[in-house]
Amino acid sequence: MDPKDFQRAVLNFYQQHGRKNLPWQQDKTHYRVWVSEIMLQQTQVATVIPYYKRFMTKFPTLEDLAKASQDDVLTLWTGLGYYSRARNLHKCAQVIVNEHNGRWPDTVVELEQLPGIGRSTAGAIHSLSTGKPAAILDGNVKRVLCRFYQIEGWPGQSKVHKELWQIAEKLSPEQRADEYNQAMMDLGATLCTRRNPDCEQCPLVSHCKAYQQGTQHQYPNSKPKANKPVRQAAFAIVQSQNKVLLEKRPSTGIWGGLWSLPQAESSQLLSDYLIQLSAAVVSTDDLPHQQALSPFRHTFSHFHLDIQPYLLVTKQSPQVMDESQLRWQDLAKLDQIGLPGPVLKLLKQLNGSTDH
Ligand code: SF4
Repeated sequence: MDPKDFQRAVLNFYQQHGRKNLPWQQDKTHYRVWVSEIMLQQTQVATVIPYYKRFMTKFPTLEDLAKASQDDVLTLWTGLGYYSRARNLHKCAQVIVNEHNGRWPDTVVELEQLPGIGRSTAGAIHSLSTGKPAAILDGNVKRVLCRFYQIEGWPGQSKVHKELWQIAEKLSPEQRADEYNQAMMDLGATLCTRRNPDCEQCPLVSHCKAYQQGTQHQYPNSKPKANKPVRQAAFAIVQSQNKVLLEKRPSTGIWGGLWSLPQAESSQLLSDYLIQLSAAVVSTDDLPHQQALSPFRHTFSHFHLDIQPYLLVTKQSPQVMDESQLRWQDLAKLDQIGLPGPVLKLLKQLNGSTDH
C-alpha cells in the first residue's frame, strides 16, 4: 500500500471514528498533551481520565507543577503505578521552567533530551499539540504495523525496533500529523486490539498481511520467555491507635520517593531493623508480639516480590523526631500521601478490619 493511500485510509478513519473529546484534546497545549502522554504509557485511557482531571485541577500549569513538592505529585499518582514517570514529570517541569524559561522546545530532538520523554512521546507531544509532522511508535502503533506488514521478531529487539521506526517515519504525513497520530493510536486501542482485532471494521483491512493470512494473533511476536526472579520482603505494620508508622523510600529505585512500610529482606532482618528504629518509635518490649498476616505477591516488570506483612500494635504515644523520613500517618487519611498500590491496599484492609 502506497504511504499516501495508507495515510488517507487512516485519516478517513479519524474523521469518522477518531476520539476527539478526550480531556487532553481540549485547550491543547504542550503541557496538557505531555501530562496525558506520560499518564497513558502502559495505562488505558479510561483509567487515566480521572487521574488526569485531578492532576489538572491541582496543577493547571507547568509552573504550578514545577513548584509543587514531590510528595504532592506522587500522591496524585498513587494507583497509576510506574512511579518513575511521576518523578520524571516533576523533574521535567522544573527543567523547562528553570533552564528553558518555561518555554517548550520546538523540535522533537530537543524534546527527547528532557527527563522521561522518549522518541515516541516527543513525537506525540510535538504533533498533537501543534499539528506539525512527527512520527510516533507507541505500543498501539507497533501492534498495527507489525500485523499490517507481518514484521518478524520481538519489537523490543533493536533490529526490529529500528525497522518499525523506519516504517513509522515513512508513513508519517506532512499535513494533519496530529489527526493521523491520534487515529493510529485509536486504531490500535479500539480495533487492532491485542486479543480480538476487529478486522472487518479496520480501514487497513484490504492490504493487511496478517488479516490475509489469518495470523493476527502471532503479531507482534512475543518476547522470548525469561523467568522472572522472585525476591522476598518482610513488611512491618507498626500501629499505634489509629496511626501507622511509615517510612520514606529512597528517591531512586522501586517506589522511589513514596511513603511505605518499614521493610527488610526477611523477618529476622526486619526485627533487627525495628530494634534500630525502636529508640525513636517502638518499644523493644512490643517486638515479640508481632502477628504474621497473610503473605502476598506483588509483580514488578522485572521480578516478583513475595511479601510477608507483620502487624505490631504498640501502646506507646507516637513520637518521631524527623518527619521527613519517618512519620505516623492517620489510617483514615491514607489518600493524602503517595503510597505504593499494594501498601495502600494492605493498610485499607487493616483499617477496614479495625473499624468494626
Ligand atoms: S486488519 Fe486487523 S490485524 Fe490488520 S491492522 Fe486492521 S485490525 Fe489490525
